[in-house]
Amino acid sequence: MKEQLYTIPVNEAFDEKTECPICSMYHSIEEGALDFTLGPSYMEDDVRMVTDKVGFCERHVAKLYERGNRLGLALMLKTHADRMLNEVEKKQKNLKVVKKSSFLKKVPDNGNEVSNYLDELQTSCFVCSRIDNVFDRYIDTMFWLYEKDADFREKFKNSKGFCNAHYSLLLKKCTEALGAEEAKSFAGICSDIYLENMKRVRDDLSWFIDKFDYRYTDEPWKDSKDALQRSMMKDNSIYYKPEGN
Ligand SMILES: [Zn+2]
Ligand SMILES: [Zn+2]
Repeated sequence: MKEQLYTIPVNEAFDEKTECPICSMYHSIEEGALDFTLGPSYMEDDVRMVTDKVGFCERHVAKLYERGNRLGLALMLKTHADRMLNEVEKKQKNLKVVKKSSFLKKVPDNGNEVSNYLDELQTSCFVCSRIDNVFDRYIDTMFWLYEKDADFREKFKNSKGFCNAHYSLLLKKCTEALGAEEAKSFAGICSDIYLENMKRVRDDLSWFIDKFDYRYTDEPWKDSKDALQRSMMKDNSIYYKPEGN
């Protein structure tokens, strides 16, 4: 079964003990996709055909920039700009910007070709599409393991819960991946883990705030030293791996 190929990285993500193992999975796939994008592959025609066409989203162009291969990124952005300018110039020739008369207000506004093209370009991304492909298969593998592997199921139950986005994703995906009864039980377990751990981090954050009060200066930090980073991971899926983990 092809999903079994991904059991190792999925298990590793759950072994990491971060505030969201699904974020850990996403992070490792994302790192791989960024390495690939700025590796030797960007000189290959088939890769460049795609990067020229779809470009990069805001998040990933910033991450590519941080990696320091300025020439590689410049080459990709240059041929992407060539293609984009070409498309925009073609569409500008047919550009119609019409103000609708008031009695046509109920007719949906289909915009204009230039805006539609540029709006789509804002969201299309070579790195995102490479990630999405693998991420979906990791999620399928996770459900497969949950169903078939008793050890993994224990690991899942003992995890530190999930971020908001991934708790929501698991609730949606379980109905596709599992049978009706199994999905119901999964959603219940998943919800308990989510809530219990979200409250734990909220309470850590509360103690973190108390520690700024002079009355608590000499009290121990307990688990609150990195409560802010862990809260940002729970709320906004910003990957954070605690030290020594
Ligand atoms: Zn997450
Ligand atoms: Zn992206």
